[in-house]
Amino acid sequence: MSLLVVGSVAFDAVETPFGKCDHILGGSASHFSISASFFTDVSIVGVVGGDFTEADGEVFRQRNIGTGDLERIPNGKTFRWAGRYEYDLNVAHTLDTQLNVFADFKPKLSEASKASRLLFLGNIQPDLQREVREQMPNAELVALDTMNLWIENTRDSLVRTIKGVHVVIINDAEARQLTGIPNLIKAAREILTWGPKALIVKRGEYGAALFTPQDYFAIPAYPLESVFDPTGAGDTFAGGFMGYLASQERLDEAAMRRAMIFGSVMASFNVEEFGTNRVRRLTHAEINERFQAFKQMT
Ligand code: AMP
Repeated sequence: MSLLVVGSVAFDAVETPFGKCDHILGGSASHFSISASFFTDVSIVGVVGGDFTEADGEVFRQRNIGTGDLERIPNGKTFRWAGRYEYDLNVAHTLDTQLNVFADFKPKLSEASKASRLLFLGNIQPDLQREVREQMPNAELVALDTMNLWIENTRDSLVRTIKGVHVVIINDAEARQLTGIPNLIKAAREILTWGPKALIVKRGEYGAALFTPQDYFAIPAYPLESVFDPTGAGDTFAGGFMGYLASQERLDEAAMRRAMIFGSVMASFNVEEFGTNRVRRLTHAEINERFQAFKQMT
């Protein structure tokens, strides 16, 4: 296996100025793996409850995503998240988070999963992220995402987890909140002193920036006229980024720059419809067409 992700597999309830959806497949590992599956073999480590049906998991089968380490607790309930966006779609308001089966989750990795070349620690409790990281000491590249809930409630554990990864992929508000430093450049430099060799800051409709100790690289977001639901854009970006890297032999900075463009391309599709609806039916031709358009633009 080339790429492994640990993160949430969820049922989301989402409200945007353009529509509402009460029950849709979401979660960091779902968005990430569907996006990455266009570039590489990807497997999920996570947990769902007895309410997660065959039909809910159908997209994983369609996209050939490994679910051998996706545990099912028959008498438990799947993780639930409810959120709302205002006209400024860059700001998500969490209305409700129910950890459910994630509250007692102990990630168990098969030997095949442990041998994955790349690992993504998707947004989930940082102790769980570290438990997975520690089972894969030889992974060639490990990246991490997180969110305000974990920064506010479990910061010490999160900083410990960050110290053990190569790449941190977070949004600008999270970088400021995590460091307590309002200037983004200074905040990025601070995070890099903790150990990671690269930091990617996602800036919603303003694009994304890559910071390394020596360099800075930034790309705009793909210009879209209609953004419908931004939920999962960050994970979809990370899925394109890590999926593309997993398809490459050399994981150097040039590859990371190309991977950022693929990440942005995938995220730009994700926001066009609710949940995973748009990305799950993408074609390689559509991805390549937008990649070329992106390259011309930049
Ligand atoms: P994003 O890419 O940041 O928009 O991620 C959105 C996804 O994160 C949603 O599909 C949610 O199910 C999931 N999510 C929200 N809060 C949490 C949390 N505390 N832990 C894990 N996953 C979460």
